[in-house]
Amino acid sequence: MRKKPKRKSPHIRNPQFADSNYTSIEDHPRRGGTLASPFSRLGPVQLTRWIDEALPNVLWMAVLTAALPRSIYLKMFHTVLQALRDRVPARKELLLVHVYLATMTDDEFDTIFAEVLAHPDAKHALSSLRLIDSLPDRHHWDRVVDQPDDNSHWSVLAQAVARTFDHQSEASTDIRWLKVMTVIVCQERMRFPEKLAEEVIAPILAYPSKGDMKRVRPSIRSLELMCRSFESSDVESPEVKQRVLPSYHGDAFWQEMWVKQKCLVLANTEHPDAIADGVRELQAVRTAVEEHFYQSATTTAADPRHEGAFGLVLYGMEFVINAAVGAGHAFSEGRLALRTVMEAFVTLHYLLTKDDPTIWAQYRNYGSGQAKLAFLKNLRFEDAPDFVDLEMLEKLANEDVWMEFQSVELGHWANLNLRKMADEAGVKDVYDRYYDWTSGFAHGQWASVRDTVMVTCLNPLHRFHRVPSPTPMPMPSILPDAQKLLNRMLDDLNQLYPSFKPRLKGLRKDG
Ligand SMILES: [Zn+2]
Repeated sequence: MRKKPKRKSPHIRNPQFADSNYTSIEDHPRRGGTLASPFSRLGPVQLTRWIDEALPNVLWMAVLTAALPRSIYLKMFHTVLQALRDRVPARKELLLVHVYLATMTDDEFDTIFAEVLAHPDAKHALSSLRLIDSLPDRHHWDRVVDQPDDNSHWSVLAQAVARTFDHQSEASTDIRWLKVMTVIVCQERMRFPEKLAEEVIAPILAYPSKGDMKRVRPSIRSLELMCRSFESSDVESPEVKQRVLPSYHGDAFWQEMWVKQKCLVLANTEHPDAIADGVRELQAVRTAVEEHFYQSATTTAADPRHEGAFGLVLYGMEFVINAAVGAGHAFSEGRLALRTVMEAFVTLHYLLTKDDPTIWAQYRNYGSGQAKLAFLKNLRFEDAPDFVDLEMLEKLANEDVWMEFQSVELGHWANLNLRKMADEAGVKDVYDRYYDWTSGFAHGQWASVRDTVMVTCLNPLHRFHRVPSPTPMPMPSILPDAQKLLNRMLDDLNQLYPSFKPRLKGLRKDG
């Protein structure tokens, strides 16, 4: 039975992620306000995390993968399996993970590791295990390998974790293969229907020399996930006589590494510059917009369409110019600027799509009403916040009409939210591209906070945890996207007040 390759989602179109196995948004089951995880269809799944729980139990294997060429450590894995299968009578009670090694007699342990320990490089590297006090089988390693050297053996241990940190890396898959083989060959705990045995298990038995590795590796990994529950004595099995295992050391191991090892944090030395050419171009186009304002103005009376359209364009440009003048375009504040430019574009495009004097007026009156609301709210306090210029606010609130005649709309100005407005204006694609991730920055959501002020500690023995960044971390510049949005605003301006030709060209990625 040949398994059909998983159908790629037609919703994932980015070429960089064409081969990813991610489930698209459309394929997530929707439950009320939640997009449930694709695995939720299977009911509650017990997730044993590779890093936190599984890796501390296979450290001796990880050390060998870091210290020896692959062909040699794979050969060793075979000798260990053979020794357990052929020369240890209690083989069915045993696994090769640390909690089980801890229960072995000296004789059992020495029989299994005889050939490994006969190899000088392997034996030397395994001394690193003696740096770990929380290892439940430390007493065996104390017997069979030499004292560790503080400097070099910490680095062996760090490399071991680094190589196996990704649960799908080659070294991790090799380790997971050894775990699966122990269950199949030594414990004889898993039995398979003949067809499955032929198609799936035969290549695993001959790993890594038989079958298409693109299929063999994932089947090793999924079998290993199934076997992981055997590593704890909580799971009773009638077939296997259970040894009394020491309490699990995963948490204690990571805690010990945290206490004994220092963080490794690199300061960023790269500081993005202002984009001088870009600023010049932005300013030139801004001047052209300003000139076009005078050419197209027809009255000194309040003109919601004319002032609104030019105002929105200039407002968007202002944010981008300020971001480009300094380094803000490549930092979190640039994301806030882009978020605002996007919203200004959606608003302008909605107004253009409707192009109805009532709606232009509604946009303007709503804004004046908001100024009135902010003004009156601030009058409640004895002192207003320092950034609020109350006299200016009063002037804005009273500019079109005396404030006392002004109603205040408490909802959205068009009785729509931004998403619906983008939808009605036919620019939902712009909203989808720019809204979510930029809004995260405006709202201080965790992923944006993490992206802005935290970096990864590079000490593998710290599980690549997050620590404060010692220097600001630049991000991809917002200017290429700002250029796209501003040019669309200039297109809209050209439609409302033809003709306006200048467009931005120079704010590209290499700008
Ligand atoms: Zn650290």
